[in-house]
Amino acid sequence: TATDSSSTKKDGFKVESSKVIVAVRVRPFSNREKNENSLPVISMSGSETAIQNPATNQVYSFSYDFSFCYDFSFWSFDKSHPNFASQEIIYKTLAVPLLERAFEGYNTCLFAYGQTGSGKSYTMMGFDEDQGIIPRLCEDIFTQIAQMDKQQVLYHLEMSFFEVYNEKIHDLLVFKAESGQKRQPLRVREHPVLGPYVEGLTVNVVSSYSDVQSWLELGNKQRATAATVMNDKSSRSHSVFTLVMTQTKVEFVDEEQCDHRLTSHINLIDLAGSECCSTAQTTGERLKEGASINKSLLTLGKVISALSKQSQNGKKTFIPYRESVLTWLLKESLGGNSQTAMIATVSPAASSTEETLSTLRYAKQACSIINIAKVNEDVNAKLIKELKAEIEKLKAAQKSTLNTDPEKYRRYLQEITSLRIKLHQQERDMAEMQRAWKEKFEQAEKRKLEDIKELQKAGIAFKMDNHLPNLVNLNEDPQLSEVLLYMLKEGETSVGRYTPNSKHDIQLSGVLIADDHCVIKNTVGKVSIIPLKEAKTYVNGKCILEPTVLHHGDRVILGGDHYFRFNHPVEVQKLERPSCGITILHDGPKDFEFAKNELLIAQRTQLESEIEEARLKAKEEMMQSVQIAKEMVQQELTSQKEAYESKIKSLEAEVREESRKKQIQELNNQKAATKIQELEKAKQNLELELHFNKKRLEMETLATKQALEDHTIRHTKILEALEAEKQKIAEEIHTLQRNRGSGNKTMTIPLNWNSLKLSVMIKEANTISKELGKNTIFYRHDKIDERTGTVSSVQVQVRNIKLGIATFWSLEKFECKLAAMKELYE
Ligand code: ADP
Ligand code: MG
Repeated sequence: TATDSSSTKKDGFKVESSKVIVAVRVRPFSNREKNENSLPVISMSGSETAIQNPATNQVYSFSYDFSFCYDFSFWSFDKSHPNFASQEIIYKTLAVPLLERAFEGYNTCLFAYGQTGSGKSYTMMGFDEDQGIIPRLCEDIFTQIAQMDKQQVLYHLEMSFFEVYNEKIHDLLVFKAESGQKRQPLRVREHPVLGPYVEGLTVNVVSSYSDVQSWLELGNKQRATAATVMNDKSSRSHSVFTLVMTQTKVEFVDEEQCDHRLTSHINLIDLAGSECCSTAQTTGERLKEGASINKSLLTLGKVISALSKQSQNGKKTFIPYRESVLTWLLKESLGGNSQTAMIATVSPAASSTEETLSTLRYAKQACSIINIAKVNEDVNAKLIKELKAEIEKLKAAQKSTLNTDPEKYRRYLQEITSLRIKLHQQERDMAEMQRAWKEKFEQAEKRKLEDIKELQKAGIAFKMDNHLPNLVNLNEDPQLSEVLLYMLKEGETSVGRYTPNSKHDIQLSGVLIADDHCVIKNTVGKVSIIPLKEAKTYVNGKCILEPTVLHHGDRVILGGDHYFRFNHPVEVQKLERPSCGITILHDGPKDFEFAKNELLIAQRTQLESEIEEARLKAKEEMMQSVQIAKEMVQQELTSQKEAYESKIKSLEAEVREESRKKQIQELNNQKAATKIQELEKAKQNLELELHFNKKRLEMETLATKQALEDHTIRHTKILEALEAEKQKIAEEIHTLQRNRGSGNKTMTIPLNWNSLKLSVMIKEANTISKELGKNTIFYRHDKIDERTGTVSSVQVQVRNIKLGIATFWSLEKFECKLAAMKELYE
């Protein structure tokens, strides 16, 4: 195997040091990437991985450096490739060895790291028949257990499934949190012996693969609910799936039952999209904002980096496990008692080159971590066995001294008695453990039966044999899309904001969801949707103001962020019958991608005018600032001119004073004719000095006059330039306004999905601000490069209308603050 492992026995327990196994996987092009029309930037040969930056043509190799190589490089780009890595190959190569270790009693862990959309969930959970590692491993465990001799070993399996979102833990296996109910976050506690754990987390006993499947379905449904109802971003959350396997070997020592237990934790983790952190890591300023966006991922990076340094230089380093929820919980899996593997998933597209490089660098660090894993054995049984053997040995020794050495015989007896006391204590401990274990087991079994009933009630086990029209959720994350089904019964179905006492049939939370949002009427199979008041309801991308009839496949968007598709099973049947085998042409699947593009196209004009508005505002603000600058220059010019002029005046006065002094001096000279000869020398000196002083003053006056002229010329030039600039901006504003009037779209507007998302977010922020009675208004602000006149970046202007002041937030900061505002609001 690829494990550099060395097995040793420490304190009688099996201990193994093993490095973290690291694999890289490339997925195929997505439809969007296919349209970019380029070749994959990544290449693999053997376990070597290289990437060529299309911008610079620079090749980054992650293998030529002989001291380093990923353990596996999986090529899942094209099925036709001879080395194509299927889901099965990945399971066998990466997960099967971990499962083997788990059966030996080691803890194991596998986590998937990569940017959103790179294939983490596809690898871990998979889609439909392309099952990923989690379902395969669960199925495999039960297959293997079924083949074991049940007389010798008893297997007990428990599973839990939770999510870490915004540093809060959410149990995915509770159904109390049905549509709209506020999820109660759980806390991490630290057990003195067993380490960190999640307090109050649901732990379910599972005895077959179908048990696991039901729970997984519930868990995924729960994630979809959070994403749909609460508007959480799934790409920002980490999901942690844990299996705890306990193997009990029943042994008999002296005809006494003596259980021997091995416990292993299997952690399978689908991490949050790495893109939220890689930008934060590269630019210092963003770090603070990025940190609160995904502290767990950021800390995971720090932990991996610290562990990697530690194992390279052999010095004990501080590892900041406690800085985030995820790393604290995964403490053992990272640099502790666990056999750990990581799969880094990457996109082959040129547009993702930067992210791919950052993922590969991250993965490279993880390669040098060495863990110390040990078999988790129950000590009681072992101690009892040892004590019994010791007593037997002493008994034999005692026997031999029976008639020869009474003193020694007595000493043996003493020793045996004390060992027996110890043995009894140990046996009592074990009996207690056994009892506690049995109780836990029975309780778990009992709860399981109740849980299955609950599961059925929650509709998890239901099949799609329903004839009622319904709405199915659509989500940006394909894993969570089409998971929730809202039935539209005969009569009225009301939709509105979730509140504890809400009577609405469908309750959604979200800033743009109104208390009473819309009503859906189902009259003998004819379904129509009625928007209410200001609440925004979109059908097939268009904002509706009148009741609108829904047809099978129509897209319904509520508020701006809640996407659904309408299904009408009866209508489908009616449609299919007359066509009689002729297939109806569908223009692509009516999935999230379709719905969002449709909305984008339909809302284009609206969005464009919003963006132009923002540009106009930015321009006007710029013009204002030019005007202010101009006024300032003028003011400066005037005051400087005044200063120079007064200086000239005072210099001229001095010159006059000097001449007057000279005249007086000459007059005095004549009067004191007699003294002339004596003072001849002094007079000459004085005259020279006076003359010199006068000249100096004259020259200074001249220079000051010159400076004044220069200054005036320079200021006039600046003023002229500013005036020209103002003129230019005014013209641009004029063009902007004209373009808008005539619908002329010659301008390049950065119009895309992100603009639409930003528009929705700004609306949310303004709604919250208004409802909370704050004086803050948010605007889109296109920052314009003053030299090129093009939009250099998009920011959000935050204006306090009461104080009349404004600041600018980066999009990251805005997103982060909005999340906090939403939390406060809800
Ligand atoms: P992530 O969980 O990293 O955000 P996903 O696993 O949801 O990404 O993958 C994004 C999309 O790419 C999904 O539609 C998925 O089906 C597809 N995909 C990912 N990896 C593969 C792969 N190896 N083969 C085929 N499709 C894949
Ligand atoms: Mg995912």
